[in-house]
Amino acid sequence: MERASGPALRGGIDLGGTKIEAIVADAGHEVLGSSRHPTPSTGGPQAVAAELVAAIKDACQGAGIEPAALQGVGIGSPGVVDETTGAVSTARNLPDWEGSFELGETLSRELGTPVFVGNDVQVATDAEFALGAGRPYSSLLGVMWGTGVGGGIILDRKPWLGRGGAGEIGHVVVKIGGRRCPCGRRGCMEAYAGRAAMEARARQRVEKGEKTDLFKLMKDRGRTKLTSAVWAKALDRGDKLATDLLDEAVEALGAGIASAQNLLDVEAIVIGGGLGIRLGEPFVRRIRQAMMPHTFNDAHPPDVLVAALGDVGGALGAALLVSRRLEGEPAPVAETSSPAGVGSAGEAMAAGEAPAAGDGSAAGAGSAAGAGSATGAGSATGEAPPPGEAPAAGEATAGGEAPAAGDGPGAEDIPSAL
Ligand SMILES: [Zn+2]
Repeated sequence: MERASGPALRGGIDLGGTKIEAIVADAGHEVLGSSRHPTPSTGGPQAVAAELVAAIKDACQGAGIEPAALQGVGIGSPGVVDETTGAVSTARNLPDWEGSFELGETLSRELGTPVFVGNDVQVATDAEFALGAGRPYSSLLGVMWGTGVGGGIILDRKPWLGRGGAGEIGHVVVKIGGRRCPCGRRGCMEAYAGRAAMEARARQRVEKGEKTDLFKLMKDRGRTKLTSAVWAKALDRGDKLATDLLDEAVEALGAGIASAQNLLDVEAIVIGGGLGIRLGEPFVRRIRQAMMPHTFNDAHPPDVLVAALGDVGGALGAALLVSRRLEGEPAPVAETSSPAGVGSAGEAMAAGEAPAAGDGSAAGAGSAAGAGSATGAGSATGEAPPPGEAPAAGEATAGGEAPAAGDGPGAEDIPSAL
């Protein structure tokens, strides 16, 4: 595939449950144009595809080019993504997205340029790894704390996709028989920390008579959901219910992330996503503390950092997907035997061989942070523990000391079938 003549501009789109973030980035990952559109709440995949087209056209206009002049457009999408065809299925957070939809092909036709589709969380993790807080490290865990809680894993500079379903850290169990998760199971980390689950919990507690400003703040802002900004505002005001629920979320994140760390022993954990970025460094510090009681190798904990690319991290990662593909990294191919429902979900951008993207990227990172909410951009730093120092291993079985959350099943929350 030949480079378009002229500057190597790429489009990147982060397709979220509530908003679509589109950018045009140059070869140094500098954002030249951007736009933000609401995700349609009706109309199914066709409506979403039309809005994606409108969003990238707006971003192109900001950059002063036509979409067809882009080398390509990358999309970070929720749901199960078939990277080889660009089809997306089972996208729970998107409206009426039943069955499979040829998202890549549809957009490519509309825009007149190649379109590559990857998993949203993997793409955002790849951006932090290559351009953001993860740059000093060769292994990391990205935790995208938002509507749900997603995870991306990079080991030895390559994404670990498992059979296509790896990285579902939101569904690590932090309490046996605990609260009902949006996935239908019980006791998942996301049942306590995901924004959708926290909102459902807040509504229940209000029904039982508790007072909170959360829903008033939501209406004042003309929202229909408790957005990250609403949570942050309520917290600033010392709202008790918001404080309680976020305390629970931090505890759950501490237990879940520490458990993942006990298994993987990565160098760094990067916390992003809507809530992670909005609440920023003070919360990342709290999560780090909440991990400690559950961290087996507590003499040598990982670095825990806030995502450095801010709100545009997902879109930058999507644009990066274009470079990775055009430079010949094959789309990861799903194993044939994936259980239904898992499919190629986790498969994201093709391998991370190169934290590539030369260091012009710092500029990209900087400007991205400037674009908004990213707090601790500076915190990335080079504290990377020298790889190889990590001990652990031999001590395996010890076990005894972590009685986990074990106050027994049930009790909490909506009794329900199961
Ligand atoms: Zn779950």
